Amino acid sequence: MRSIIKIAAFILLIYVMPILPQAESELPLHHKRLSERALVVWTGDYMQTIATVALATDKGIVVIEASLIRKNDARIRRVIEKEFGRNDFKYLINTHYHHDHTAGNQIYSDATIIAHKNLLAGMKEELTGEGLVKLVDKFKHMLKEMEEAQEHVEPQSRDYYLVKERISSLKIVIEELQSGFVPTYPSILFEKNLTLDMGNMTLQLYSFGGMHTDSDIVIFVPEEGLVAVGDLPPDQWLPYIRKELTSDFSVTLENWGRIVESKWDIKHLNMAHSNMHLSVETFKEQYRYLHTLWEGLSEMHRQGLKIEDAKKKYTIENDFPYFKDRIVQTSKGNIHEYNIEAIWERISKK
Ligand SMILES: [Zn+2]
Repeated sequence: MRSIIKIAAFILLIYVMPILPQAESELPLHHKRLSERALVVWTGDYMQTIATVALATDKGIVVIEASLIRKNDARIRRVIEKEFGRNDFKYLINTHYHHDHTAGNQIYSDATIIAHKNLLAGMKEELTGEGLVKLVDKFKHMLKEMEEAQEHVEPQSRDYYLVKERISSLKIVIEELQSGFVPTYPSILFEKNLTLDMGNMTLQLYSFGGMHTDSDIVIFVPEEGLVAVGDLPPDQWLPYIRKELTSDFSVTLENWGRIVESKWDIKHLNMAHSNMHLSVETFKEQYRYLHTLWEGLSEMHRQGLKIEDAKKKYTIENDFPYFKDRIVQTSKGNIHEYNIEAIWERISKK
């Protein structure tokens, strides 16, 4: 019996051995061409990471989204250089302040960084002083959890590789944030919108605050039919407006309308997180849903009606059946009712 166990242990050892030394190796790199002038690059096969968009314009390369790990951004940058055969990085655009989208800005310090004016405060809070200490502690805690999880996952399973990618990424980020990290801030900030004429393409940057952070922006490149949405709500959810955010949502809706009602077709929608998806159709339906509610509720408010009347008048089943099979119920309760309350609060303050 003992020898059987020994043999089994040996077989297990040679089976697992080739994988173990790679535990801290780099995540695989992937890229996808959207056109001759547009590219999406990301890392990893199992864990979600950030999908960076790169555009080859007449006036230099424009990158949308940095990520959390400088090492990954440096590798992504090299793919962009190789694919486009040039290295004249002109702009990096941050879609919002979150650290997983801005810690890697340093890799593009030779370019001009552009973002919404509300980004600075959030980025400073997360990536300097106490905020940075907390972030590193959070990652150390996550690493401990992952290392514990690693002992229970079945070798070669999907979870095994997922945990392996997470451990390797956490080790790198903990080290990177504690040594040589320089928070690198945008120098061009805008409030409602900003258009960049890049010769062969136009970049329309729109403020989209209120659903994820108060610094969200969406980038529309009509000539490429490309919309980069950052962390907007994905396909499977009914979108929702966060009550705690203070962005003027009428500006977000005005900007959203400009994109979906543009004469240019939308062909590609890039969500920042590599495991998330948002279809062009859902993006348009999200707008129709929130715009209809906003307009309808504003009218009801003008007529002196009550929020209860609004909740009775607009239902997902009758008015927005497109979303009837999406996630509507969350820890916040019913998102549709929550949206009506969020909109009512905002229009009551106007
Ligand atoms: Zn985010």
